[in-house]
Amino acid sequence: MAGPALRSTITWDSKLATVAGTGAAKIEKAFGYRTVGDLLQHYPRRWVDKGSLSDLGAIEPDEHITVIAEVVRSKLHSYTDRRRGGLAFRLEVVVATEDHQLSVTYFDKKKHIAGWREQTIRPGSTGLFAGKVGTFRGQLQLTNPQNQMFGTSGEEDVGTAGAADEAATHWDSIPQLITIYPATSTVQSWQVSEAIALALDLVGEVPELLPESVRTEHDFVSARQALRWLHRPDSWAQKEAAARRLRFDEAFVTQAVLAQRRAALMAQAAEPRAGRDGGLLDRFDARLPFTLTDGQQEVSRAVLGDLAAGHPMHRLLQGEVGSGKTVVALRAMLRVVDSGGQAALLAPTEVLAQQHHRSITAMLGDLAAGGMLGGAADGTQVALLTGSLGAAARREAMLDAASGEAGIVIGTHALLEDKVQFADLGFVVVDEQHRFGVEQRAALAAKSGGSPPHVLVMTATPIPRTVAMTVFGDLETSTLSELPAGRAPIQTSVVPVADQPGWLERGFARIREEVAAGHQVYVVCPRIGGADDGTVPPADSDDSRPMASVEDVAPMLAEGPLQGLRVEMLHGRLAPDRKDEVMRRFAGGEIDVLVSTTVIEVGVDVANATMMMIFDADRFGVSQLHQLRGRVGRGGFPGLCLLVTGIEDGAPARERLDAVASTTDGFELSRVDLEQRREGDVLGSSQSGRRSSLRLLSVLRDEDVIVEAREIAEVIVAADPDLHDHPMLAEQVRRLDESDQAAFLEKG
Ligand code: ADP
Ligand code: MG
Repeated sequence: MAGPALRSTITWDSKLATVAGTGAAKIEKAFGYRTVGDLLQHYPRRWVDKGSLSDLGAIEPDEHITVIAEVVRSKLHSYTDRRRGGLAFRLEVVVATEDHQLSVTYFDKKKHIAGWREQTIRPGSTGLFAGKVGTFRGQLQLTNPQNQMFGTSGEEDVGTAGAADEAATHWDSIPQLITIYPATSTVQSWQVSEAIALALDLVGEVPELLPESVRTEHDFVSARQALRWLHRPDSWAQKEAAARRLRFDEAFVTQAVLAQRRAALMAQAAEPRAGRDGGLLDRFDARLPFTLTDGQQEVSRAVLGDLAAGHPMHRLLQGEVGSGKTVVALRAMLRVVDSGGQAALLAPTEVLAQQHHRSITAMLGDLAAGGMLGGAADGTQVALLTGSLGAAARREAMLDAASGEAGIVIGTHALLEDKVQFADLGFVVVDEQHRFGVEQRAALAAKSGGSPPHVLVMTATPIPRTVAMTVFGDLETSTLSELPAGRAPIQTSVVPVADQPGWLERGFARIREEVAAGHQVYVVCPRIGGADDGTVPPADSDDSRPMASVEDVAPMLAEGPLQGLRVEMLHGRLAPDRKDEVMRRFAGGEIDVLVSTTVIEVGVDVANATMMMIFDADRFGVSQLHQLRGRVGRGGFPGLCLLVTGIEDGAPARERLDAVASTTDGFELSRVDLEQRREGDVLGSSQSGRRSSLRLLSVLRDEDVIVEAREIAEVIVAADPDLHDHPMLAEQVRRLDESDQAAFLEKG
């Protein structure tokens, strides 16, 4: 069928209609594909071995089976669904292999779907059915199995006699490995499958992204071969070889984009900030009341080295809560101030900005009182700039930033506003900020006199290595993996109020014990209170149980089990000065029990707090719980965290809590977290509703592939930054860079 003339006219970029004919419009509508190349990247969802098909004569209830069978009868019935009300549809089908029959039933709520199904599963057609065997009135049957029908485009015209004939020949024409494609209710799988088969035969050149040398070295099949073997393998070995090659391609394009971004950053000039002897940093170090851990020293060396180089630093610093990231960042800020520049610290919330301001000012002591009476001779000033400052305070902070009086400016996103100017912004530290991408960087570059500032992003949410390499791939990564000495472990227990109602009382008694011993306690609730207050954390969306709220729990505790203790509330609806006041009083030991929402999630640092009780803990994600409990056990006292839940033993949400209780290894937990979410969410594709560019590659499983692709991409981009010699790769890189998908690469 594939004449040489035809093959030369159909290219990777040809319109879909050249291979899908009149079906092209439907396929485009269903999947967004426009070209032959798009279509060829519609990879099978599953491969079924013809030899592994079940024998209809020997099946048993509850067994999962896959059969290829011919449809003998098919009849659509409508009925009234009493439970839901309204009309529903039931397609009753009988399928047969050579000597056995099985009934198959599909239930549908929508008439057009039921109608489509009836059209697809027609008597005389042959298809593959996969599902779990059930029984109905003593008879074995499949209910709503997955199915894939084998049709030909000419089938429409074949009469009854012809159809029977065709079914008979089908078995032999079915390949050894049957590919199952993602399909929709409007596009039948065989339509996609036929168009793909035609495209494979007709397409001229298939873009070859990998240089010959890489292909040889890694024993990869060619791109054309890989596509053919993925769509129509003769053996599992072929399918595996194809998947291995194409999986690598996916990693490779992503890593090439990131390598180019890193190269572009390296090509930019930034002011080197090498500091000076006897400056603020040296004097700060001299008075530091503890020794830096080995990890802190190592990361500090890397950071200070970056600052002294002539191009912008772009580094991610990850480390458990309390691992001492802030000290590392502060040392780097002082180095920049010593070099005559300014540093900005960007915090995600007002509470955190205020807290950073308090603790940094305290750590610096008289070094932070530059130009003031009693300040160190060449000290600097630390300014706070947040959205809620009064007009006068705001004007003063802005003036200090613009004049250069303030060497360190701490704030929220208010810092990024146009009005805010710096005398010489050399360094930006971003704390726990997940949306700091290219735009924000550009906004800051504009403030630093055009040359981009050095950037350090800090996060306590551990990111598995491969995700860091993919999502934050244009950042260099440093990790603080040890906690400073004297940090006591946190013990975490699940308090299941459904199974063990007595444990809650015991929990309240523990709170009283902690307070009696002079310590303080956090109680965390998923809601503020009142009507729909919009603080619902990520949770199973169909869950409608009422959730504990700060406004209910605080008085309940104060008047009940915690009577006599100093109980206060903290949440996002309080006025900013009220919030600040509560935090200050808690930090000062004037409050025993702080009942709050997740406003305390990141960075809040009260060393004397030793216990946390989280109500409706199942409402929070794994990482969030881990962050929350990091608030306790910071002062060298052992910490206790109780996860209160109404969820019964064995439910998935309970497994999540058990995982959090069983380990304090943040990396392990982030893995659990990611496994529970769909991988697409990690890459943000579900948000944009677009298909992910990663089809075969798993950022969680394929670490070795990603590492290898990164190394190779690095070498290629270093030798040929614009990818002149690799036009096909350059094209794919350009497309990925321009697509919505690129947004996920900018989360850094
Ligand atoms: P992170 O920002 O990673 O959560 P911080 O830098 O806020 O951690 O440090 C947490 C606490 O530990 C702070 O009170 C800090 O002063 C203290 N700390 C930091 N480094 C050390 C160290 N090397 N030895 C002892 N205490 C330290
Ligand atoms: Mg911190």
